[in-house]
Amino acid sequence: MIEYAEALAMVLAAAKSLPAETVPLAAALGRTLARDVKAREAVPPFTKATMDGYAVRAEDTRAPAAAAPGQGRAVVELAVLEDLPAGRVSRRSVGAGQAVRIMTGAPLPRGADAVVMVEDTEAAGRTVRVRRQVKPGDNIGLLGEDLGKGELALAKGTLIGPAEIGLLAAAGQARVPVARRPRLTVIATGDEIVEPGERRGRGRIRNANGPALTAMALQAGADASYLGIARDRDASLAARLARTKGADVVVLSGGVSVGDYDLVKGGLGSSGVRPVFWQVRIKPGKPVFFGRRGRQLVFGLPGNPTSSLVTFLLFVRPALDRLLGRTAAGAPAGRAVLDEAVAVKPGRTQFLRGRLVGPGPVLKVAPYPDQRSGVLRSMVHGRVLIVVPAGASRLEAGREVEILFADGRSS
Ligand code: AMP
Ligand code: MG
Repeated sequence: MIEYAEALAMVLAAAKSLPAETVPLAAALGRTLARDVKAREAVPPFTKATMDGYAVRAEDTRAPAAAAPGQGRAVVELAVLEDLPAGRVSRRSVGAGQAVRIMTGAPLPRGADAVVMVEDTEAAGRTVRVRRQVKPGDNIGLLGEDLGKGELALAKGTLIGPAEIGLLAAAGQARVPVARRPRLTVIATGDEIVEPGERRGRGRIRNANGPALTAMALQAGADASYLGIARDRDASLAARLARTKGADVVVLSGGVSVGDYDLVKGGLGSSGVRPVFWQVRIKPGKPVFFGRRGRQLVFGLPGNPTSSLVTFLLFVRPALDRLLGRTAAGAPAGRAVLDEAVAVKPGRTQFLRGRLVGPGPVLKVAPYPDQRSGVLRSMVHGRVLIVVPAGASRLEAGREVEILFADGRSS
């Protein structure tokens, strides 16, 4: 049996990034950038007003010496050259004693170096009275202040979320180079397993893992498909495995223990899967199997629903991240303080299902009271795994621990 870190290293070593493809920006959500993207255009592409008001030369707004103290606020009067709405470029140049009435988003006219907010002015025919002094740069956005032309907008390996889409759009990027989504196939196994919508006979249970693992794969960015339930017979498993040829990743649930009907390892061997490891010193999920068939990665996850989902997070998710060329591989890790003591049997690295308890300022975490691997509610209850090192038998309340965010979001 090998340690968790060793097993993870073997998975990562086997998972190479997939080739790139180009997609329209609107389809890039949740994808991973396959190349560095440099800004085609500066953002913003010109220096602009960030307030409605008057574009001026800041030095012209200095209070005149005549405005003696005690006579109210100083007022400067400037000649208004024109009105400038957003989207129009001024042909005029603002000279001494002059101003242009400008709207938010309009390009700053030549000569001006600041905008006086409309609230600090008083229009008077073709002139404006300015009641507050401004400094150069006030109420304007500088050309390229968000992103200079040619500057790195987003680095290769970045997961594209809504803000990244906004930045790419702002820089004029209509199509985006992304990693191809890994094709992942899920197969459930077991004579006792019945799909949720079907009649359940005596002694049989619902298929929780098929849908849950498919969902995890989708959430991790894979192009996931589900191949149904293989029965605990070599022929049934072989028939399903025969349909996984085009998959980058195959995930099976159940049948990897040492029971008489645990056929997965043998069945995988007969269909050309070379084993890399079987059994890892972790809890839950000890019987997990990993093998390869050419470039295809094959995971046999234990059937207990919690073991299945935890081992997906620990091994399959990092592999998918690598296939996608993501900068970070695996569930995001963090640190938190135990809200209560936990006692465990030493010997294996444990991944307790827990939840964050609020409110801050310190991130606190509490384990679900029932940690048996058949109890899937432990994973519905919270979104974190508490990592308990193999040597530990008791961790006191207040102790800092490593946590993994099971839903892939750390904030
Ligand atoms: P196995 O790993 O096949 O020995 O299964 C371990 C336990 O998990 C057994 O109690 C199975 O009935 C249960 N199990 C296996 N596959 C699934 C599944 N797809 N959904 C829910 N429970 C399962
Ligand atoms: Mg089984």
